[in-house]
Amino acid sequence: MLLYRDSLFRLHHQTHGHPERPERLEAIDRMLQQAPYADRFHVGECRDATGDELARAHSRSYIHRVAATHGVPHTRFDSDTTANEHSYAAARRAAGSAIAAVDAILDGPDRRAFVLSRPPGHHAEAAHAAGFCFFNNAAIAAEHALARGLRRVCILDWDVHHGNGSMHSFYDRPDVLYASVHEYPHFPGTGRFGDIGHGAGEGYTISCPLPAGCADADYLHVLRNLVYPVAHEFNPDLVIVSAGYDAHRRDPLASMKLSTAAYEVFAVLDCELADSRAGGRLLYLLEGGYDTSALAEGVDASLRVLTGSTAAGTPGRDTVAEADTDDTAKVDTSVQDVARRLIELYKPYWPGLEAFS
Ligand SMILES: [Zn+2]
Repeated sequence: MLLYRDSLFRLHHQTHGHPERPERLEAIDRMLQQAPYADRFHVGECRDATGDELARAHSRSYIHRVAATHGVPHTRFDSDTTANEHSYAAARRAAGSAIAAVDAILDGPDRRAFVLSRPPGHHAEAAHAAGFCFFNNAAIAAEHALARGLRRVCILDWDVHHGNGSMHSFYDRPDVLYASVHEYPHFPGTGRFGDIGHGAGEGYTISCPLPAGCADADYLHVLRNLVYPVAHEFNPDLVIVSAGYDAHRRDPLASMKLSTAAYEVFAVLDCELADSRAGGRLLYLLEGGYDTSALAEGVDASLRVLTGSTAAGTPGRDTVAEADTDDTAKVDTSVQDVARRLIELYKPYWPGLEAFS
């Protein structure tokens, strides 16, 4: 597999004490130095997105607004999104590296890639920055894959926050399935029950709002009974994962209770989807995750699976067995109820869900 890292991603700073900070990548770097699977990945070549590539997901006037921050020490976009003199360059390289990873995956021989970039992307809208995000890396990567001739791209988003920008990018289109499991109500306030897409895109937005406090069994119940069955039925040519690690139980910005091992199980499910439907083509893009050690552990859990290394049993980590459960008794009754309602909601669009109701 391919791993994309660049020192530019650490030069983007927001305000003092901001949770989306360079230390996030430094923690991942430290983890990678000791990773037993270091010989199992190649280093991908990062590059900048062109203006035309950014314009597939953003308005020209907005791209110019972000570009105008280049070299300017401090530009505030909203209450929690601020650019420094390097932010535009970092954001453009994050988007470009996602595109480079799509190209590498399509051209082979590597079929899996993880872009470890900052700033993240899934809150960025077509014409404004939001939630620490400037350019929507997942949307730009999906558009690039379609421009290269793929017919269907699936974006799975298990960051704890709903990816409003990603959803809005494809809300009325059937060529990109956008599926999100997220805490609700919570920032950014989108991703309600019933957000199913519009027009030709009706049924192609899967929005799974879950109550605060969900643990591994709750997530896996919704993922196994709704999200992955729909994604398999969608039959994508490429799977893009908005990989945010802020649903971890130690994350300071949200109230979910995932163990580190949950990310290993998610990766197994992502690989199964990509391998069985998309010729193995699987792209992970880093989104959130604000407890730096939980973030590094989560990325490590993902990479153990993506590189085909050994899974469970490393001392000090949760075991996969703890996370990987089909035991409905462990699923909170309110989550069982949400899952039932979601399956009923999406069954008209995805007949395969009949088996799960
Ligand atoms: Zn997040």
